[in-house]
Amino acid sequence: MIAYLLALTLGAAQPSQASQTGATAAVPTQAAGAWLVSDVTVIPADTDEVLPHRSVLIRDGRIVRILAPGAKAKVRGATVIDGRGKYLVPGFVDAHVHIATEGAIRDSKNPAIAALELGQAHEYDRQVMLAFLKAGVTGAANLGGGARSDEDLLWLREEIAAGRIAGPQLYVGKRINGPRAAVAPQPAAAVPASKPDAPTTAADGAAAVRQARERGYDFIKPYQFLNRQTYRAVVEEARRQGMITTGHLPELGCASCADRDFAFAHPMDNIAHSEELTRFARIGSDLSPRDLEALADAVAERKIAVTPTLVTLKTIVGMYVQRAVPPVPGDWAMRVDPVTRLDWTPPANRYLSQAFRDQDGADTFSAGYDFARVLTRQLWKRGVPLTVGTDASLPGLVFGVSVQQEMIELREIGLRPIEVLRAASINAHRLFDPQAGSGAVREGGRANLVLLDADPLADIHNVAKIAGVFAQGRWLPMAEIDRRLEAGRAFEQGLSRQIQAHPADH
Ligand SMILES: [Zn+2]
Repeated sequence: MIAYLLALTLGAAQPSQASQTGATAAVPTQAAGAWLVSDVTVIPADTDEVLPHRSVLIRDGRIVRILAPGAKAKVRGATVIDGRGKYLVPGFVDAHVHIATEGAIRDSKNPAIAALELGQAHEYDRQVMLAFLKAGVTGAANLGGGARSDEDLLWLREEIAAGRIAGPQLYVGKRINGPRAAVAPQPAAAVPASKPDAPTTAADGAAAVRQARERGYDFIKPYQFLNRQTYRAVVEEARRQGMITTGHLPELGCASCADRDFAFAHPMDNIAHSEELTRFARIGSDLSPRDLEALADAVAERKIAVTPTLVTLKTIVGMYVQRAVPPVPGDWAMRVDPVTRLDWTPPANRYLSQAFRDQDGADTFSAGYDFARVLTRQLWKRGVPLTVGTDASLPGLVFGVSVQQEMIELREIGLRPIEVLRAASINAHRLFDPQAGSGAVREGGRANLVLLDADPLADIHNVAKIAGVFAQGRWLPMAEIDRRLEAGRAFEQGLSRQIQAHPADH
């Protein structure tokens, strides 16, 4: 159902004061700072190992040393963080988000939103980036949005990497899609001419990939209205350009569509929703459990990875069943900014519309979620690499905390907690950024880390108990993240007042 229904909505921290155990002398502090997390339990996550009583030295954005119990570190200038009773794990990655930046606001079709006064300090985007960190999310893959929003993200990616804005490492994807008419059951006559931004020929599909590469995008999201030859050309050109593909499976049931065999003969690196596979299991308006096994086998044989996005389906089904946006965890409702809040509210929230309820197949929505859970479990049993993705900020899914919700979804279908951590970190790094290392808590690795107050292997819900994060090698204790978010509240309240001043416009 996601295939049809998903909206295309489109500084260095001050080190904390901590106990001064173990730190003595010798290494000068670099610009990005140096920290020693002392006497902490390390969960590297690339294996099932648990390493108690380690001291972890972080400097220049890297994990420099992981010291065995009792070893004395010479770490002049390093700020010591007391790790006793705490757990150091890889930072989480949301493998499927749609970040609407200030550029998306300026491009809004709603004139009252487009006219919002945002100021010059990028406060809107900064708040969104901080929300990710508050949830331990130190990486996020954006699966395409509007042109101006994408441009903002390419810029933000560099600001974050340089440490000028605190946020997750961004992987910016370019969505390539054809016109819907190109895959309509009634063919030919009505199909518009091919264009690079809506290709219907292999040449234009390949050109779109090359353009995305030149512009600096990290990966390609093929989308489902690409016809047969264009879909294949996009997938193949991306591979030639060294860009991974994660997206939707092509439409079925038209002369120019890539059918199921064709799609698996020319596979993407990653399928962006388990629901995409469910769509391929539909026979007429029904779901066939027999096809579930065959689909899982096909994915495993072709070595395709999958981002199940179970929480996304759960949330959509929740809106369908309850006719309301499901509550978000804890006090995360505060992190839904006024512009996003509007998108979550009728009439902008199409999941709460009558048209949504009236569409064909609506009576299989709930079964589709069950099907996706069983299918994802079968994928996991076959060793298919799974990642944690959420489709935030789709209504009901808040940037950051939705990652923790999806981790719980994966735990509930049977993954062990360490496998959930791996899906949320190692598997995402392997998919989006394999050159940069495994993402594990290992010497030499990038310091994108979460310090937890409780053991995530004892209970995956403990991934929400965060003492602080290392983002791009900089330590941000939770109190500092909260302080910065709070400092942005006045800006958000200003946006609310502006929106309320134009009630007729939305
Ligand atoms: Zn999406």
